[in-house]
Amino acid sequence: MDIYVRRGESFWYFSNLFNIPLQLIIDSNRDVDPNALTVGQAVKIPGYAAVDYRIRAGDTLWQIAQSRNIHLDALVLANRNSNPNQLYIGQMIKVPTRITWRIVQGKKSYDSRSFMNDVRRLESIYPFMKVPSIGKSVLGKRIPEAQIGNGNKKVHYNGAFHANEWITTPILMTFINDYLLALTNHSSIRGLSMLNLYTQMALSIVPMVNPDGVDLVLNGPPEEEPWNERVVEWNKGSIDFSDWKANIRGVDLNDQFPAEWEREKARNPTEPGPRDYVGEKPLSEPEAIAMAELTRKRDFSRVLAFHTQGKVIYWGFENLEPPESEAIVQEFSRVSGYQPVKSIESYAGYKDWFIQDWRRPGFTVELGFGINPLPLSQFDEIYEEALGIFLAGLYM
Ligand SMILES: [Zn+2]
Repeated sequence: MDIYVRRGESFWYFSNLFNIPLQLIIDSNRDVDPNALTVGQAVKIPGYAAVDYRIRAGDTLWQIAQSRNIHLDALVLANRNSNPNQLYIGQMIKVPTRITWRIVQGKKSYDSRSFMNDVRRLESIYPFMKVPSIGKSVLGKRIPEAQIGNGNKKVHYNGAFHANEWITTPILMTFINDYLLALTNHSSIRGLSMLNLYTQMALSIVPMVNPDGVDLVLNGPPEEEPWNERVVEWNKGSIDFSDWKANIRGVDLNDQFPAEWEREKARNPTEPGPRDYVGEKPLSEPEAIAMAELTRKRDFSRVLAFHTQGKVIYWGFENLEPPESEAIVQEFSRVSGYQPVKSIESYAGYKDWFIQDWRRPGFTVELGFGINPLPLSQFDEIYEEALGIFLAGLYM
């Protein structure tokens, strides 16, 4: 919600008036110098929406503020162009309304359009979260990265590397939404102060690495040629894409990283298809390149890649992982009930490459149990299991 500065006001005053942590107001207004506010300047107040209200007989601003549990001056501030002493029946005013509910409704077919709608809505309500793009898919769709927190410890989560594991995107988006809600409402999650985590961590989340693939699984082939014809051909003539893991060029994005890529190539299909094709070379695909560039640029202290399914957590690669990986995975296991697995015969994955090149903790978390795509009926159960891991990834 935007408000406009009056004489003598400060971020500190707005923080008290709206009961929103000062740091969140500062971070929502990075282009504003808090020590040099000018009259009439727009300031974003996170966690609020300005809701229209039509004045009825007998209304006063004082009584409207009382009934909605907001300060009278918050109401005056949101209606700077109307005279609070001269309300008339039928007049429309803005009522600052604290957002206490989830925006993200994850229990649905969550294609790239649903995803981007939620990204835009969260961005506008919680402007202290930044959501730049890290790149574009083959079909030109944005790959957004949510950045939450202004601390030093850099942690990264991602989802939907694999198209038919798209449920990982709404699971991550629900966590982002719950984190933001807890911050603006001074609440904790499972006893953890999220504001403390916010000041200590810089959390990076790429909820949908493979938007073209997700849309293929959920909506069928794209209209664009040559992909419209090719994907059906690579899918052996079938228009049922529920087994599809790859990007739109039939390359498995989690087989694209320069970590024993040749070994992965030797054991996998040699042509584009629904799954396991490694591509012509490592990092040939724009989605994989975007993830590699982000990871190099940001120098994360740990990464967690969310997949489905199996209720297992892979935490090793060629014995290159640091000793702390084992302690961390034990905590992940404790809070989720998932089984730690050190490694399997598999190479060239994102977490493999991270462990190999940084020698820091990297994990592949296989959420849920069943046949991909996992049914939405599992959503709540998966979220509860994943939530423990999301939080442990921050406090461990
Ligand atoms: Zn996967």
